[in-house]
Amino acid sequence: SAKSGGGGTYHFFTKTMNESAMARLVIENDLREALAQNQFELHYQPKVDLRTNRISGLEALIRWKQPGRGYISPMQFIPVAEETGLIGKIGEWVIAEVCRQIAEWDAQSVPPLPIAINLSPRQLIEGRITETISRILTDTGTPAARIVLEVTETVMMQEIKKSAAILEELRHLGLQIAVDDFGTGYSSLAYLKRLPINSIKIDRSFVRDVTIDTDDAAITRTIIVMGHNLGLKVIAEGVETKEQMAFLRESECDEVQGFLIATPQPPQEIVKHILRLSANAETEL
Ligand code: C2E
Ligand code: MG
Ligand code: MG
Ligand code: MG
Repeated sequence: SAKSGGGGTYHFFTKTMNESAMARLVIENDLREALAQNQFELHYQPKVDLRTNRISGLEALIRWKQPGRGYISPMQFIPVAEETGLIGKIGEWVIAEVCRQIAEWDAQSVPPLPIAINLSPRQLIEGRITETISRILTDTGTPAARIVLEVTETVMMQEIKKSAAILEELRHLGLQIAVDDFGTGYSSLAYLKRLPINSIKIDRSFVRDVTIDTDDAAITRTIIVMGHNLGLKVIAEGVETKEQMAFLRESECDEVQGFLIATPQPPQEIVKHILRLSANAETEL
């Protein structure tokens, strides 16, 4: 019981419950508030095609702007949202907001680009993701081909049959599927052929030392070659230097994403970037 000892003292909270559990409780309440008060925003980071040097798509990344505290990183609150089940509602907001943004940009004649949405394991496995997405696409009139879903490999390995069935449904709707943070889970390229996937994103932990660590270089090259042999597009995340990009280009990686090209930015900023890059693609990179 939380209430132990005399005098109504809550020993459970003061002694047993650790600080991080307490912090989580606070975040959980704040997250409910954030949903109700519309405190989430999406920032967008471009991906660039290494053959054409053009922007090939954007990734939507959630930001929580808490009044008086500035931006809070998704690394801090997405895990809490996952644990508490709030991810369902937050994830739905993300999908709807991306579709709204696509309609707005289309109306402004911004060059159309596919937008990637990150899906948490729980969003994929629990709930009814196919129905949810299908409903939002219909309501907003968004073509399914404009949406890429990024899923991490961990969940697919744990529940491969269920994941495969859900991903099949999503692909059937016309969405594209990417495996995010590839190489960090219990990765085996063999399982990829059992899943309806379009692309893989090499985790930035391999990309970081690709020009100085021969193991990371070998892993990265191997992922690219095997990905291509399986008919997949290969994207490298976390590209920060020209040297990393040169290595990836030489290794025939298809696309890159990272601070070298652009950091995630609010919609108004990313639009300027899209227009500038589509105007003079060759000189930018
Ligand atoms: P992710 O999907 O792997 O996204 C890439 C993360 O790396 C982003 O962090 C991005 O800002 C960062 N990044 C991009 N380029 C570079 C680079 O060159 N160097 C370095 N050091 N970092 C780079 P962010 O935005 O903090 O997001 C972290 C993670 O939170 C994401 O990893 C994703 O797993 C999760 N996340 C973000 N938005 C959402 C969302 O809407 N829904 C869900 N379920 N998860 C999200
Ligand atoms: Mg991602
Ligand atoms: Mg990633
Ligand atoms: Mg990541």
